[in-house]
Amino acid sequence: MTAASSRSLEAYEPEAMRAWHLPGVVERFAHEVEVADAALRGLNVPVTIDGRPVATEDGIDSFDPADPTRIVARSGSASAAVIDEAVAVANRTHRLWSAVPPAGRAEVLFAAADALRADRDRIAAIEVFEAGKPWSEADGDLCEAIDFLEFYGRAIVELDASLVVQSPLGEANSAGYRARGVTAVISPWNFPLAIPMGMVSAAIAAGNAVVFKPAEQTPAIAYEIVKAFEAAGLPEGVLSFTPGRGEVAGARLVEHPDVATIEFTGSRAVGLAINQRAAASSHSSRYVKRVIAEMGGKNAIVVDSDADLDEAVPEVAKAAFGFAGQKCSACSRLIVVGRRYDEVIERLAAHADTFILGHPKDGATSVGPVIDADAHERLLSVIDGTRGTVRYRHQRLPETGWFVPPTIVDGLESEAPLRRDEQFGPLLAVVHANDLDHAFELANATDYALTAGLFSRSPDAIARAGELQAGNIYVNRGTTGAVVGRQPFGGMLQSGTGPKAGTLDTLRALSSAWVVTENTMRQGFAADLVT
Ligand code: NAD
Repeated sequence: MTAASSRSLEAYEPEAMRAWHLPGVVERFAHEVEVADAALRGLNVPVTIDGRPVATEDGIDSFDPADPTRIVARSGSASAAVIDEAVAVANRTHRLWSAVPPAGRAEVLFAAADALRADRDRIAAIEVFEAGKPWSEADGDLCEAIDFLEFYGRAIVELDASLVVQSPLGEANSAGYRARGVTAVISPWNFPLAIPMGMVSAAIAAGNAVVFKPAEQTPAIAYEIVKAFEAAGLPEGVLSFTPGRGEVAGARLVEHPDVATIEFTGSRAVGLAINQRAAASSHSSRYVKRVIAEMGGKNAIVVDSDADLDEAVPEVAKAAFGFAGQKCSACSRLIVVGRRYDEVIERLAAHADTFILGHPKDGATSVGPVIDADAHERLLSVIDGTRGTVRYRHQRLPETGWFVPPTIVDGLESEAPLRRDEQFGPLLAVVHANDLDHAFELANATDYALTAGLFSRSPDAIARAGELQAGNIYVNRGTTGAVVGRQPFGGMLQSGTGPKAGTLDTLRALSSAWVVTENTMRQGFAADLVT
């Protein structure tokens, strides 16, 4: 294990993605996919409290979205009583874990990163089957999970020094951060390893005990987080794992009086409801509960009249249709300035038509299925019910699986669901703008403010990119693929409460700051009082 002190924040480097062109890399991953293909059938994923599996009355099945006849995993389903048990354990272990110095906690995070590295292809292969991720997307999620561990491990040892206090003559001031209290982590399925790992690792780095409820759709991947921390030597009970239904296990976690902080990533509707319930239940708690909620987006990319379309078209296509449009950062609105409107749509359609839709276990697949039957049905009905003009609809869909065709629609009214609501699928609404002012006005006409993009060759236009209302703004590149340590991630307005993931601010939000002030103007040393 590397000493924490040798891993400074300054020296942090993101984990390199798999270089598929190098000899043996494709073959090795293909082998892991084959192994997973044979093995992933009804994998047992238990509720785990205090290091021990806990039997639950009910269970939840997760499916391969590209072949729903396969049950990938059967997880436990935590009841309210099971959540109470997990929180009681967390409350006890919290005191012990928060007393471990930051460097000691960092060691555990680094060891968990090593555990993920050692098992990298096997874990990524689970994502292929349980989340429907194409190979590179699965590998990317794994790298990001490692990045969060490396980043927060380094950041926690630097946190106290970031709280600067003056000590004038006669007064000694010292300050630092301590763990805030038991933290509930409630996560989505779309980055089933990286996002919960980001939330869990930040909370653990800050000295909190965690109760982690993953999304119903991806428990097997989430369980790898527990295994990595177990391999890293995290004391039992610091991280409990409570897969379960949102409205049962999630709701009880939010309302439990001994939960101090709720880290949530998911939809706006659920995030706002959690915020409300956490505030209301603070009346019966020692804490004013803090909610960190990262939510959805209705992200726009503006293509300026002078944009390089060779650059813009593939990047927009990737941002809109990559992982079947199921990224919070995905582009779902395209705003084209000026006369090349039709040309942009035609080129985008031609590009999208090169995509191969298929089972992600096939390395050639570029777009996989959507996550579940509900999403499948809902997205198809949005396409069928649109009053806009369908300019492109991908035609080569596999016969089985929850596949939705990449689709481009224009001619929509401003209140049309495709322009206004996050759909979370491969559906792109295109709008024409007369000039850049108009384009920015259209882009900002939403309460979401997560990501935004601008393609332009004009320095004046590029200088205005900050006028786009979003937490993460990208110029001359797509809106997806934020890297820990390079693009701290998170939205504004109704896309999120902040702080951004991958910053010291997140560690601060999971902590409470303390200050000790000593009056050093003593009246002399009283030796006779020293025993
Ligand atoms: P979701 O809101 O349906 O579920 C997220 C989690 O909340 C799940 O674990 C679910 O079980 C739980 N939950 C549901 N109801 C609950 C309740 N009443 N109380 C407590 N917990 C409850 O979201 P999803 O479908 O899993 O994920 C997709 C959404 O996540 C999209 O809106 C996407 O934009 C968003 N997302 C945002 C970010 C970001 O960083 N801003 C990242 C990824 C995903």
